[in-house]
Amino acid sequence: MRILFLFFLLSYSVFSQSEYPQNYFRSPLDINIVLAGTFAELRSNHFHSGLDIKTKRKEGLKVYGIAEGYVSRIKIAHFGYGKALYITHPNGYTSVYAHLQKFSPEIENYIKTKQYDKESFEIELFPTPEALKIAKSDIVAYSGNTGSSSGPHLHFEIRDNAERPINPMLFGVDVLDTTKPIIANVYAYPIGVNSHVNGSNKKQKLRIIPQKNGDYKIEDLKAFGTVGFAVETIDRQDLASNKNGVYNISTYYNGNQNFEIDFKRFSFAETKHLNRLIDYSHYKKNKERLQKLFREENNPLSLYDNIIDNGYISIYDTISSVYKAKISDYKGNTTNLDIMIKGDTKLVDAVEDEVVTQHYIQHDLEAELSQDNVKVNFYSDTFYDSFFIDFSVKNDTLKLHEPVVPVKKSFTIAFDISSYNEADLKQLYIAELIGWNDWPSYSSTKRKGNVLTTRTKDLGTYVLARDTIMPTIKPVNFKKGSWLSKYRFLKIKIDDKGTGVSNYRATVNGKWILMEYNYKNKTLTHDFNDGVITETKNNLKVIVTDNVGNSTTFETTFFRK
Ligand SMILES: [Zn+2]
Repeated sequence: MRILFLFFLLSYSVFSQSEYPQNYFRSPLDINIVLAGTFAELRSNHFHSGLDIKTKRKEGLKVYGIAEGYVSRIKIAHFGYGKALYITHPNGYTSVYAHLQKFSPEIENYIKTKQYDKESFEIELFPTPEALKIAKSDIVAYSGNTGSSSGPHLHFEIRDNAERPINPMLFGVDVLDTTKPIIANVYAYPIGVNSHVNGSNKKQKLRIIPQKNGDYKIEDLKAFGTVGFAVETIDRQDLASNKNGVYNISTYYNGNQNFEIDFKRFSFAETKHLNRLIDYSHYKKNKERLQKLFREENNPLSLYDNIIDNGYISIYDTISSVYKAKISDYKGNTTNLDIMIKGDTKLVDAVEDEVVTQHYIQHDLEAELSQDNVKVNFYSDTFYDSFFIDFSVKNDTLKLHEPVVPVKKSFTIAFDISSYNEADLKQLYIAELIGWNDWPSYSSTKRKGNVLTTRTKDLGTYVLARDTIMPTIKPVNFKKGSWLSKYRFLKIKIDDKGTGVSNYRATVNGKWILMEYNYKNKTLTHDFNDGVITETKNNLKVIVTDNVGNSTTFETTFFRK
């Protein structure tokens, strides 16, 4: 047992927060904590809401309840968290364990009963406090790689009683980290018409000079007017090469703090506004996440502190000044960035590069764009900023800008399909063209009369497409007439090359059987230990339906004794 407590020692770092209980929670695993992902690190369209703990590239590690409590929620989904367990503790916090391979036998039994009742593998349950009580250090589950996980690990969260994820490090999770954050890129942004940086009114990439001690300098920056900065930064820990997020960034102008961003806690309601923190169009074009060290209007993020003039600096003379950013990881390893600025009062010819189109979106008003058989509807505040949107329709192809503008709210795209004949109508769907080869990807499509609609958060190109491909169903580990008495699992491969699998249903002798669907290897798996297949001769029937309703039925017979 000794090893269990070694890694959750009280953290003596300067960031220790007495408002969070220390030594109350134990580690969810009994191995050294090495992180593949840190709290609030920048992911696509969200901040990471927990820690990704490495599990030695394996599945099946024991997962422990971090304190006493009760199972308050169980969710099993094909995507997202996969198999996830939520334990609510008497002190008001909830711990979350995700991408699990399976649960403890007691919890597994509880879930299976409900899955058979509901005839569904995907399920969400909210057990009463009495149903599944947990003692500290109970084995509650086994680590896995389920849902949208790209390798075995445990996704672990601690949430407060308002469901806000909190940095678990604040409760004393300890990780070996003596490595300073790295700065990969620094950009300067002249704000407004007369401002300029290095003789230009456009965003400028600055030449960073790494110092021997891991700090960075920028020299001889010339600037005038209102200027903001952005950095691309990553943090590594000692025992892993993963590029993780940092914990705190503070900036100072001539010695006075004028901005701070602090990754202690956020709410799920604000997580999408990550796209306002980063330079979104830069990210979409260059795959670099520049964190803006200034706050623009319409930025609802709660992560900021100590802000003066929204983090911008103002230069209106030729005097030299110093801008400094301190970037820290949770353990207090700090990287300094010093930018020496020389005031430059020379006027610079402004270069205007905003593309003017027929359609201007006023961000705080709703808008409708329509042409031919296509209509697009935006709610007010779908976007952070007002802009000229690129919109055109030709031959059932909608060109709706480029995906370089962050979108806050889903909007609706509608295609009138009255001109199609009834036979084709059934298989029509709205596809978004994705990737370098413009692959038509199914966009969740609803049909009402002769109108197809989809709700999306992606700007880009949409087309009407037809799915004529039927789903496929193939047994993996047996043939028709096989004896499967010694088999633990029944495995079937299902696939749909068109719009994708929407639904599957398997029965044996007319009785529904639970099959777990793993979209990564396209496999349905039944566990004979469920005990529902009791007869010798078994007629198996599997029906798979795709997203437009094309359906394939597979029937076979196997034997068991
Ligand atoms: Zn995670």
